[in-house]
Amino acid sequence: MASKLTGTVALVTGASSGIGADTARRLADQGAAVALVARRKDRLRTLAAGITEAGGTALAVEADITDRDQAESAVRQTVERFGRLDILVNNAGLMLLGPVVGADPQEWERMIAVNVQGLLHTTHAALPHLPHLPHLLKAAEEDPRQVADIVNISSIAGRQAWASYGVYKLTKFGVNGFTGSLRQELAGRHVRVGVLEPGAVDTELGSHNNDTVHAEILDPFNAQHERLVPADVADAITYMVPRPRHTAIAELWVTPTDQA
Ligand code: NDP
Repeated sequence: MASKLTGTVALVTGASSGIGADTARRLADQGAAVALVARRKDRLRTLAAGITEAGGTALAVEADITDRDQAESAVRQTVERFGRLDILVNNAGLMLLGPVVGADPQEWERMIAVNVQGLLHTTHAALPHLPHLPHLLKAAEEDPRQVADIVNISSIAGRQAWASYGVYKLTKFGVNGFTGSLRQELAGRHVRVGVLEPGAVDTELGSHNNDTVHAEILDPFNAQHERLVPADVADAITYMVPRPRHTAIAELWVTPTDQA
């Protein structure tokens, strides 16, 4: 029996770990051919091999999405290999915490480059203006679904402001606003643009922070709260994407039960 996403093609950024890796597996389980995009090619190759072994179809694409050419190339390689693009999951992200006072502005720039500019690069490349290459817009007019999807991974940090999360929150509040605007722009063309806002998830995301951030922010939080696992978020994404054509999930907020 055909799965819900049979005949479709998905591109997942940040597929080398955490939420992105599990999302790619789940989309492949549902029948999508999946392009796995991130910088760590070895991780992507291992994931692609696992998906293939499980009966799915995957392509490992090494790309730093902060570089517009590399983001465009990742989309191009996906379409060249699989012939179309139906689903874009903008998941790659970086979270560097700490007070604004005395912060290293280079950390801000790195976060903005991935969480904001990277997301814009892949989104723009997946919606090219060239009439013969409209990717998501074209998939939205074609079988098997006559609808296409962009899912942007924001965060609870895109809904609530907390001290020491300033620039991460700037990026995630921004993703929410951009998602709403693009949803309105594309609704009539049957490209659904939704945002998913996870609470705390046990992944590598915090690992890029310095010892002070671990000691003062992350370790105390993690000691007090249960965290989601990546599969919980992947579940939510694979709820959003296969909805019937007339149903769009605009926003989904998924948290550990004890995280208010
Ligand atoms: P991970 O650190 O496990 O995953 C981040 C992914 O982003 C990696 O695959 C990494 O791959 C990729 N990435 C980072 N920089 C780039 C880049 N320049 N180009 C391409 N890929 C890049 O963390 P999560 O799985 O937790 O994070 C996924 C998303 O979920 C993020 O947007 C995060 O903000 C969001 N989120 C996470 C929460 C959590 O508690 N974990 C809560 C709420 C939201 P590589 O290094 O190989 O390039």
